Amino acid sequence: MAWRDLSRPAPPPPEAADPPQDVRAALCVLASGSTGNCTLLRVRDDAGRWTRTCLIDAGLSPTRTRRLLAERGVAMGEIDDIILTHLDTDHFYSGWRRVKDCRATLRLHRRHVGRGERSGVLMRRTEPFHEPVELAEGFEFDPALLSHDDLGVAVFRFAFPCGATLGFATDVGKPTEAMIDHLRGVDVLAIESNYCPEMQLASGRPAMLKQRIMGGSGHLSNEQCVKTVRQIGPGSDVVLLHLSRQCNTPSLAAEPHEGSPYRLTVTSHDTPTDWIWIRAGGDTVPRSLFEAAAEG
Ligand SMILES: [Zn+2]
Repeated sequence: MAWRDLSRPAPPPPEAADPPQDVRAALCVLASGSTGNCTLLRVRDDAGRWTRTCLIDAGLSPTRTRRLLAERGVAMGEIDDIILTHLDTDHFYSGWRRVKDCRATLRLHRRHVGRGERSGVLMRRTEPFHEPVELAEGFEFDPALLSHDDLGVAVFRFAFPCGATLGFATDVGKPTEAMIDHLRGVDVLAIESNYCPEMQLASGRPAMLKQRIMGGSGHLSNEQCVKTVRQIGPGSDVVLLHLSRQCNTPSLAAEPHEGSPYRLTVTSHDTPTDWIWIRAGGDTVPRSLFEAAAEG
């Protein structure tokens, strides 16, 4: 395959210690999968102080989240924002509104507000979004709503003060031109790689569930994921989200990315990833390489 022939060895794995001075944003996926999704995202200033701390989705219990945050030196009271892709229970756990020392602003797409009100899960500070939101100077996210079940799912393009960008896409059902355009050329791309089609078909799941997952309003397969990644052309890192425990394995999800010129991180439902530094122009890959691959 032309894409693999063109690739060069992947850069070393993500660092685990304190970030180098030039790193202004960092990401750690605390857990990802149908039993709960939560990603920690931090931004810091020139002096190296962390100035903004966000969760993308909060689908773990507050107790478990608190423990995982503490292991990374983050207190519950430091969370400024909880930014939701959608309201399914694996992405937002209903107990958050009762956490007294959580002063975060809950941010969800305005299409999801009605469902949030009806289910009584919205927090004291809730801010709907439908356009780009600036969280701090130079730090913003731009949402795009894609179809997923009835109400859709938000995918995000984050931009940081250093000029670096992060794309985040989960539960997107099928790759669309709109999503690819929205995330094109981000430095770090976190994207779902939910299932292996053979394992899905061979599983004992009800036909209706298989149809929902594979029918374009559920999840991306491993092959759909890698195809989408090639079209997006990320600069330095790809993070695979939301692997099915029943119908996927980390090695099956990683296999189609073998030899690719970006660092690959495969997330897990129970083990957090290392910190992934988000750097501007972390372009280990010339854009033309991806463009050639997308055509090939
Ligand atoms: Zn999900």
